[in-house]
Parts: sequence; structure tokens; C-alpha cells
Amino acid sequence: MEQDEWRIVEKGFDPARHEASESIFSLGNGLMGQRANFEEQYSGPSLRGSYIAGVYYPDKTRVGWWKNGYPEYFAKVLNSPNWIGLAVIIEEVSLDLYTARIEDFERVLDMKRGLLTRSFTATLPNGYTVKVKTERFLSMHRPETGVMRFTITPVNFSGNIDFVTGINGNVINEDANYGEQFWNILHTEAWPNRAVLLSQTKKLDFRVALAMNLHLVGKANDIEPTKEEMWSGNVIQVAGVENESIVFTKYVGVCSSLNHPHDQLITSAQKESADALEAGFEHLLKEHEEHWENIWHHSDIKIEGDAAAQQGIRFNIFHLNQTYTGKDERLNIGPKGFTGEKYGGSTYWDTEAYCIPFFLATAPPQVTRNLLLYRYKHLPKAIENAQKLGFTDGAALYPMVTMNGEESHNEWEITFQEIHRNGAIAFAIHNYIRHTGDEQYLDEYGLEVLIAIARFWSQRATFSQVKKQFVILGVTGPNEYENNINNNWYTNKIAVWCLNFTLSSIQKVKKRNPEHFGQLVKKTRLDQKIETKLWQSIADNMYFPFYKEQNVFLQQEGYMDKEQIMAHELNPAIRPINQHWSWDRILRSCFIKQADTLQGIYLFEELFDTETIRRNFNFYEPRTVHESSLSPCVHNILAARTGDVQKAYELYLRTSRLDLDDYNLEVHEGLHITSMAGTWMSIVEGFGGKRVYDDGRLRLAPVIPQQWQAYSFRIHFRGNQLEIKVSKENVEIISHASQKTSLIVYDKPVEINAGESCTIPLNPDFNAK
Ligand code: BGC
Repeated sequence: MEQDEWRIVEKGFDPARHEASESIFSLGNGLMGQRANFEEQYSGPSLRGSYIAGVYYPDKTRVGWWKNGYPEYFAKVLNSPNWIGLAVIIEEVSLDLYTARIEDFERVLDMKRGLLTRSFTATLPNGYTVKVKTERFLSMHRPETGVMRFTITPVNFSGNIDFVTGINGNVINEDANYGEQFWNILHTEAWPNRAVLLSQTKKLDFRVALAMNLHLVGKANDIEPTKEEMWSGNVIQVAGVENESIVFTKYVGVCSSLNHPHDQLITSAQKESADALEAGFEHLLKEHEEHWENIWHHSDIKIEGDAAAQQGIRFNIFHLNQTYTGKDERLNIGPKGFTGEKYGGSTYWDTEAYCIPFFLATAPPQVTRNLLLYRYKHLPKAIENAQKLGFTDGAALYPMVTMNGEESHNEWEITFQEIHRNGAIAFAIHNYIRHTGDEQYLDEYGLEVLIAIARFWSQRATFSQVKKQFVILGVTGPNEYENNINNNWYTNKIAVWCLNFTLSSIQKVKKRNPEHFGQLVKKTRLDQKIETKLWQSIADNMYFPFYKEQNVFLQQEGYMDKEQIMAHELNPAIRPINQHWSWDRILRSCFIKQADTLQGIYLFEELFDTETIRRNFNFYEPRTVHESSLSPCVHNILAARTGDVQKAYELYLRTSRLDLDDYNLEVHEGLHITSMAGTWMSIVEGFGGKRVYDDGRLRLAPVIPQQWQAYSFRIHFRGNQLEIKVSKENVEIISHASQKTSLIVYDKPVEINAGESCTIPLNPDFNAK
């Protein structure tokens, strides 16, 4: 891989790295996505994957020992009919990069333009040499359109070449629990240069129609429209002439029953594809590029003096925007996006805890609002989910993993115990409101969710007669390397916060919108006296474990009973420990998988002074093995917050190129899409010191890593957009707003008129105080 600021470039082909590259070079447009599989046949190891947002399958649960309360199925995003295939056969031998001799192979993901290209010269085992160039994109402008252009030039021969291209419905999910095929193919049809395929999921009746239109530059001797049970397309024989290019352009429409009535799916896909053909490749690409230009305008981060870091952050921003465009409140962000099957493409707390801060700052508020509405719409299922576990009276437990609001995760220590997710969902509502000022969201949707979550916490907490305080027993914190613990500091903290926030929100909505509040009380059957009194009492009397000897918050009761070994004392050969140690050994160790207590300090930072944050950071960081990619960014932010820029930079490096450099040798499974938002947070909240506390004011306290000359980013805040440029000497803030903006830089109030800028000297020691 070359280091290039705007492009990911792979020179030379290594089949052993192919599956990793298929992940890295993935394409998406919010509505669909695909791994960077080859168009032509490839007989080497490859994970072929095309995915359509929101089209999933309830795969029957597979589990060693069934526990009551487990979900019946694990929802997974479906590997969907594949339209990129274009087999090339010369004298009965297929062009196949696994068997051919390859020269000048180059694969490029142009992140500025959203375009995947590939070029190479290949000599087939029968001695024929061809030069190939491929170009592919999933239109951001027309999300139901995909386009590919395949240019092939005979180098050492003239003669017939056979091409087989179409739509393939014979696809499987590698992660299928029982090896089942998830699709029925309802219809295939082919005409010269055209084909359609209609598929239906075997459960839930999702339907997807794909239609293709081909455009060929070259002399076709024969075009044979062909339809099979699971495939439709054309077999085309072209008269190849030495040094003359044959160009296939394939325009594809992909329409799903999420957006079209069943009886119009085929015609809609055909129209999409025919319109694309009419517009032509160049025009479609131009529209698509303009779309990307706009995205980059809002979300780009520029880093001077560190090409690797520049490439890393753009890679992350690119993939986040490919995965979620915020147009449809039924969609969400899977930890691997459209780049692999792990995690089933379902929604985790990652969205609220990591992706929402990114989208809040880099996209219009509507994008985050849709992510919140996704959970609002799932509230009845979250209540049902809690009921299944024995909670009552409208208490809601949001699922750990979901597609449609139902829980689909089945490990008791996570499904039943990792309940802190409820807190992240409530916190996201607060975060959205303090960033956007959209208080109405609370009245219309937010409070209803908060009441249900508060009810859950009040039923989940127990009053301990021994401690004379409330406790929360039998949980798993964000640190999944310990289960069934009592009084996880983070969980207790976020539970108390939820209760207090719900109580204050009730007062606000009651005052601001009494009529609506009355309706909500009716709908939720809120008992304003008894319930709120209980919530207040739990919030005021919660037990928090504390370790007096070192004056730090204690991750959970009993944590100090463990043998205290620091992560740096571990032999590097046994890391990551989850690949070398038994689960039993991990659970008994003091090692922390990911930010846990520090996750809480990050969320509620304004409650703690610098010394407290530093003390807790210094205690937990050496014990944390960061074996979740979601972890280092939180530690980075707190290191920067307490003035340790060098440490913050080291932590930043652990995430920024995690996938590009494949640190954990797992990129073949897909990219860490949600933790990419964490890398963005590391720069903007870590080095940039961006905060919005409960007073609703924007704060910045920038520092700069020694390795960088300068960096800049943009943030949306309450309808305004600011550009922040940080150099070794200054912080320049440029307003792209239509009204005056006030903010706090370091601890000084600053006002900037619309369209103006202001420059403040860099204060690298501010955070250390
Ligand atoms: C992490 C969770 C996370 C999940 C999906 C796990 O490894 O521990 O916090 O939600 O991955 O990213």
C-alpha cells in the first residue's frame, strides 16, 4: 500500500492479501455496498459480498446451551445478488488472476471521487496476454444505481473473446448458521444487452430486483441472452483485435421492497438502469463526484506533515460516509458496515457512543435525528424485550444487537448483562439536543424513550440492606473481559445520569409543552408522584465503588482482588490475549478490554477536575489492553484533556490506520467502521479539544502533536459551521456561518461574526493545568 493523501493504492497483486484488500477497497452509498471483489472470475480465496441496507435475514440461533430469554434468531445483513460479474474466456481459458501471470497490477480507491479502479496486464496459462482496466462506483447521487466499466485490450493476439456477464442470485452468507441459502429467485429474464433478476428472502419476504443494461464498444459476433434459475445475463462473443480496446459498461438498478411496492420492483430497477444508460458513465460519475465534493467540504480533516495520518483519517471519513448517509430512519450503521459479514451488519451501541458524535459535527442535524428516530421507532420492541426478561410497566431494554428493534444477540453475559447500552441511547438524545438546540425533539420523541429507560433502571437497581444504598448487580460493563460483576462504576454512573436527565426533562417538557406532556403521561401511564420519587431516590443513593488507596473510581466491586499486572508486562507474543489465553484466564485477569471507567469519565467529563481525570487515566490506561477498536480513542481524548499530547498521539496511532495497516490481521473479515468514528473523535475531541457541555456552549482547547505541522477540521454547531485550523503557533477559527457565533477557546469567550475569522495563540499547556 502506498501512502497517498487522497487515494488508497495497492501495487502488485498478492493473493494472500486479497481478502483484506476486498475489505479495504469496499464501496458503498448508504443504500447498498459491496466488497471490492473482482469483476472477472477469481478462483483464489475471496469473500464475495454485496449488501443492501435494511435487507436482513433472521438466521435461526445457534448456541451451545439455550437460556430462557435468548432470541430465536440472529439478524444478519444479507449477501445479495451480485451484479459485478464479467467472466472473460479466451480459447476456453478464463481470465483469473489466481492462475494468470500478472504485471503492473494496481488497485486504487480514489476517496475524493468515490471511485474504485484496477489495472493490470495478465497472461493466461494458454499464453494470451490482455491489458485490463476496471472502474466502478455506487452512485451517491442515485443510490439505486451502480456502474462499472471494464476495458480489455488484447496485447498479443487477435481473435474471439467470450464474455459472460449478468446478475447472479446464487449467493450465500459465509456466516449462515446452518449453511442455508437465504434467497428464493422469483424471476429471471434476459434480452440482448439487458437482464433482470427478482429475488425474495426465504423469511420476512424482502424482495430485491436488479436490472442491468450493457453498453459495448467492440464488435460483437454474437449476443446470447441467457436465463437460468438463479442467473440472468448475456453470453457475448466479441472479435478481439490486437491493441484495440473492448469496453463493457454495465449500468445496474438495484431496488428493494424497502422502497418500492412488490409489483413495481422490476420496472423500477429497469428504469433506474435504463436512465443510467441514457445518462452515460461520465455524467453519472460527475454527479457522484459532486456529491462527494460536498461531503468532503463538510467533513474533511487536513493534516500537514504526516501523509500516513492524512491518508488514515480520510480513509475513515470516507468509509463512514459510504456506510450511512442519514436519509432513512430505518437504517443504521453496522460495526463492519457493508464491508464484511461479522457482527451481522446489525446495530450496536457503537452508533450512539461513537458514530453520533461524528455525524453531529460533520453533517446536518437531520442525519443524527434519523439515527435517534431509529431507536424511537424501536421503543415498543425495547419494551417487549424488557418484558421477556421479566421487567414490567413500560420499562425498556434496548437490544445489544438489532436490525428491527428485537434483540438478536445470544450470549447471556452480553444480552442480559451489558445493559449500559440503554444509557448510551439516552445520552445520545442529550448530546443531539445540546449540539443542535432542537429541544422539540425531547418533547416529541425523546422523553418517551427516557421514561421507558428510567423505568428499566429503577427496576434493575436493588436496594442493598447491607450498604443502605442502591446497587446494580450482575452486569457486564463495556469491558467485556469480565462478566456478571456487581456495581460496575460506568453502568451505575450512566444509570444515575439517565434517571436525573429524565427527571429534569419531565420538568422541562411539562413547562414548555403542557398539552403534549399531558398526552405523554396518558400514553406512558407515568405516575408523576410515585415513579419520579423512586427515580430521584435511586439517583441520590446509588452506590459507587471507590478505591481509597489510590483515590480512583473502581471499575467494579472486587476489581482490586485481582492480581494487578500491567499490560506492558505482558509478553508481546501473547497479545492480543483474546487470541492466546483461555476465556477463563482472561476473566480472572485484571486486563481491561476497552475503556470502561474512563468511558464514563469521558461522557461526564465536566463533573471532574483535571487531577481526578489524570489519576484515573494513570490507573486504568496501564491495565487496558485495548482489544476493542473502540477503546484507544477514549483514552486518547482523556490523555489530550490532561495535557499528555505524546501519549494521546500514541493512542491515536493505534486506531488511525488500524485497518489500512491491518494491525490485528483481521481486516479480511471487514473494516472497523464504527471505530472509525472514534478516530475522528481522537482528532477533533482529543487534539482539537472540542466539547459541548451541558451549558450548550461550544468549547475548543486545541493542542498539536509534535509530528504534525498543522491540522484543520470543520464542525457544525447549532446551524453554524466553523473551520478550525491549528498550527504550531495559532488557532484560527473561520466562520462559515450566516450569524454570529460565540464559543469558548481555552477558557476565554470568543465571538466571531458571520463569515469572519479570529486567530488565537496556541496554548499547549492549557490542558495540563
Ligand atoms: C465491543 C463492543 C462493541 C462490539 C461491536 C465488541 O468487541 O466490545 O463494545 O459494541 O464489538 O463493535
